Amino acid sequence: MATQISTGTSELRDITKMERIGAHSHIRGLGLDDRLEPRANSQGMVGQAKARKAAGMILKLVQEGRIAGRAMLFAGPPSTGKTAIALGMSQSLGPDVPFTMIAASEVFSLSMSKTEALTQAFRRSIGVRIKEETEIIEGEVVELQIDRSLTGATKTGKLTIKTTDMETIYDLGTKMIDALAKEKVTAGDVIAIDKTSGKVSKLGRSFARSRDYDAMGADTKFVQCPEGEIQKRREVVHTVSLHEIDVINSRTQGFLALFAGDTGEIKPELRNQINTKVAEWREEGKAEIVPGVLFIDEVHMLDIECFSYLNRALENELAPLVIMASNRGMARVRGTKIRSPHGLPVDLLDRVLIVSTKPYTETDIEEIIKIRCEEEDVKLTDSALQVLTTMAGQTTLRYALNLISTSQMLARKRKSDKVDVEDLRRSYTYFMDEKRSVEWIKMQEGSLIF
Ligand code: ATP
Repeated sequence: MATQISTGTSELRDITKMERIGAHSHIRGLGLDDRLEPRANSQGMVGQAKARKAAGMILKLVQEGRIAGRAMLFAGPPSTGKTAIALGMSQSLGPDVPFTMIAASEVFSLSMSKTEALTQAFRRSIGVRIKEETEIIEGEVVELQIDRSLTGATKTGKLTIKTTDMETIYDLGTKMIDALAKEKVTAGDVIAIDKTSGKVSKLGRSFARSRDYDAMGADTKFVQCPEGEIQKRREVVHTVSLHEIDVINSRTQGFLALFAGDTGEIKPELRNQINTKVAEWREEGKAEIVPGVLFIDEVHMLDIECFSYLNRALENELAPLVIMASNRGMARVRGTKIRSPHGLPVDLLDRVLIVSTKPYTETDIEEIIKIRCEEEDVKLTDSALQVLTTMAGQTTLRYALNLISTSQMLARKRKSDKVDVEDLRRSYTYFMDEKRSVEWIKMQEGSLIF
């Protein structure tokens, strides 16, 4: 097992990023200019200028590889954009930098210990960029580039290899060059070549199912021909997380556990073997470490054991940037009797860069509502926009944003394509905000089970 560490496949890359939809889908970055100054309304971001700028500065340090093993804390009232800014940071990091988001309460589960859950979250946030030389195999779709004085232009196409017989490939590849120019092949096209006549036909981009290939018959070949010379091997680079490598190599779990999300506990010996192997790959120039970001929401829900784990884990050479968020002021550190700012022990607070988020102005709220309406494809009348803005100020921004889609349903019911004040008013009576819910619970005391 130690020598046969597998790196997994490229299909796994997106798994850790799947949760980035829904309430924050309008966030596409931090909305900063080249000098890290916040633009008023950009990439789905509005207001919260100081916090966004601070986030941008930290991001720059991460990108320059100067801040691994550090932690930051977004502290501020509910709905002031702590999660949104963390997601904005992740959007700016690029596709192969891992970003993991957990709510602190997820750590307390019956299926694994707290520290195992945190270890997995840490290892999900550390990428390994692996360079591998692979052989082109039958059935594989490969990029193709032909640059020949014959055609006077560079032609790019996507071809599927239907044979590994390199002589046939070369022969057909040479015949193909003229035909590519004639057929106006562009990137993404699939091309079939008749084995005997060398005739090339463009099959369109959707031609990708194996039964289509089979239907072409044995005389048809799909070939690759880069720059007039056929290469049998090529280098591919893919990034997987340390956690994915752990799971794939875990005898008890295996590859499919990643899709189920239930990976169970992973043995420390296996992790040690993987760390050693990754260190070897790094030395041989086959792999690079890509420190990512671990976002822990509601961090005050962690307890003292978890905080000690965090303190230790941050010292590790392979630590990601840890971003925490809390909407608590002074709070008890769970598992102790000590009260501390944001419910974090002072030794952890001491190493954390704290960024505060502030309540939004009315203008900011209005802008955010407008962005969300656009994102959800909802039209508001001017007076509805005004009412919803006021509602957000009196309840929370998140509550007001939630009413957008429910009010749209009500507007549709009365066959209108615009949400009006009446739809909002009815939504408001159907769905409670936190304050009203608390009042209602107080009124029900005695009849509810607590
Ligand atoms: P909590 O403490 O309750 O977890 P939070 O501070 O993490 O709250 P978010 O969840 O980020 O708040 O914000 C609430 C909603 O408002 C989300 O839909 C978020 O995308 C949106 N939002 C918050 N701030 C901004 C902003 N500056 N620009 C655009 N949208 C924002």
